[in-house]
Amino acid sequence: MSYDYDLLVIGAGSGGVRAARMAATYGAKVAVIEEFRVGGTCVIRGCVPKKLYVYASRFKDQFDIASSFGWQVDASFDWPALVAAKEREITRLEHAYTSNLEKPGVEIIRDRGVVTGTNSVRLVAGNRELTAERILIATGARPFIPEIPGAELAITSNEAFDLPALPRSILIEGGGYVAVEFATIFAGLGVDTTLIYRGDCVLRGFDEDMRRGLEAGLIDRGIRLIYQTSITALSEAGDDVRATFSDGVSAPYGAVMFATGRRPNVDGLGLESAGVKVNDFGVIAVDKFSQTSVPSIYAVGDVTGRAQLTPVAIREGWYFAETVYNNNPLWVDHSLIPTAVFAEPEIGTVGLTEHEAATHGDIDVYVARFRPMQNTLSTRTERMVLKLITEKDGGKVLGVHILGPSAAEMIQIVAIAVGMSATKADFDRTIALHPSAAEELVTFKSPSYIYRNGHKV
Ligand code: NDP
Repeated sequence: MSYDYDLLVIGAGSGGVRAARMAATYGAKVAVIEEFRVGGTCVIRGCVPKKLYVYASRFKDQFDIASSFGWQVDASFDWPALVAAKEREITRLEHAYTSNLEKPGVEIIRDRGVVTGTNSVRLVAGNRELTAERILIATGARPFIPEIPGAELAITSNEAFDLPALPRSILIEGGGYVAVEFATIFAGLGVDTTLIYRGDCVLRGFDEDMRRGLEAGLIDRGIRLIYQTSITALSEAGDDVRATFSDGVSAPYGAVMFATGRRPNVDGLGLESAGVKVNDFGVIAVDKFSQTSVPSIYAVGDVTGRAQLTPVAIREGWYFAETVYNNNPLWVDHSLIPTAVFAEPEIGTVGLTEHEAATHGDIDVYVARFRPMQNTLSTRTERMVLKLITEKDGGKVLGVHILGPSAAEMIQIVAIAVGMSATKADFDRTIALHPSAAEELVTFKSPSYIYRNGHKV
């Protein structure tokens, strides 16, 4: 049977673009259908603008300690200038992504695609049907908004980048990546910031030292934390939004933002017409080669709910193309993914947390806490934390967790060693680089404490 295309990709985000580009490079006739902007969440309203705003917000910390290095700084902040600069940069990246697709011959179709069968997709605006030997769903995810009265008055990370003006105050709900990153961004830019979270400490699932260290850092930066509480209703209050909490308290805020997780973009995609199996919360079920329950339909990235991270989506897209179009079956190992939280202080982490490792066997834990050198001339007392978790027998490194400046950059490199099953002895053999914070990782002498039979000794 002949088709219009070898591959139709729905969604031009990180996973879809990589898959399309690689498949075309291997000779496939490919089209990408995108209803918004090429680049997806990461480029347009995620990682890239977020990191740019993180840089903007970090000047505050630098200005605070500048006088300890002899600088006198009289600074003011211009929000529209930042928004405009961000827009220029993401537009540049969008063009780069577009030309990277066009170079190997991928056709970009600006429309909304709806699956109509195992090998067909209808273009909504174009009102025509296309056929393909294979379809790749790479539609990503969107912010989840709790169903409460007045929810439409809140913003999400989608809107936060382009607010017409900085709010006088903001209430952010959530305790995950987006919540803590945006809390530090807004606080750093001078907004009176409150974070409300249903749990008892931010970043559930992260190593306890990272959670408590970040919590202290947030408080230190003037961010108010309200725990074990949720927003139950929102209402208009003049220019403000009034938030009512689960404990009955209510207060007005210049803006309210939900950072309560992300859900796969599957609504109205027509997956049921092809018989694609979808799990809880709309997650598309795939096997390790990203193939759905329908052999001609694949899915990569956030829509598959495996790990909602750009580099993971890129790798899934790439390996899909390798497997299907280069006769080179590859699947992504999701077990050891380094990740960073670009809050202030920053967190970088790879491998098991202390708690997870302790339930896995006997372990040794090495922890260094110290004031980063940059702070030593100032009165800032914030401490950096570097933690190494190793197996008692053999010394295999099971987890590394870093809180403090450049944690993300460090953990990316450390992840290579951890992925190669490095041991404490391998770390010890490495000559320290002085003066650096990272040198602590290769100069630990004896464990700070140990776990035997699941108990801290
Ligand atoms: P997360 O899953 O990280 O956090 C969601 C938070 O919202 C959790 O604290 C959760 O609480 C809370 N929550 C969920 N549902 C509700 C509800 N109904 N009412 C109140 N609170 C609720 O999601 P994010 O949106 O922060 O980020 C989405 C994903 O995007 C991340 O998991 C991450 O993979 C990725 N990301 C990565 C970044 C990076 O690499 N630096 C940056 C930003 C996002 P609880 O803990 O109790 O479940």
